[in-house]
Amino acid sequence: MENCLFCKIVEKTIPAQVIFEDDDTLAFRDINPVAPVHILLVPKKHLENILGLDAALAQAMHASLKKITEQEKLAQGFRVVANTGEHGGQTVYHLHWHILSGRHMGWPPG
Ligand code: AMP
Ligand code: ZN
Repeated sequence: MENCLFCKIVEKTIPAQVIFEDDDTLAFRDINPVAPVHILLVPKKHLENILGLDAALAQAMHASLKKITEQEKLAQGFRVVANTGEHGGQTVYHLHWHILSGRHMGWPPG
């Protein structure tokens, strides 16, 4: 989709530190990390938010999540966040799962 930052990262017209890629998904390091490990996992197809996921793509995202947590050795724990809409704190309207790790995550989130 035109003028979508994460579509441009998927198309590789904007650089990113890619750590995982398969046919349906891409994962790269967040440019402004809020934890020692801060990865963004996105579907290659443009979807505005998590409500647009169908079963097949949800399965693909989940499969990539599992592979990334193994690859990045996150067995000690991690948090997955999908900020959605204005009140959810979403700033980029291409679905992304934040994968946060490397420190103890507080609760409730701020
Ligand atoms: P959200 O606020 O949930 O929509 O998350 C958007 C995330 O994208 C933020 O954590 C930003 O730091 C991150 N971000 C913005 N631009 C880039 C970029 N060019 N490369 C990697 N991460 C980015
Ligand atoms: Zn997009």
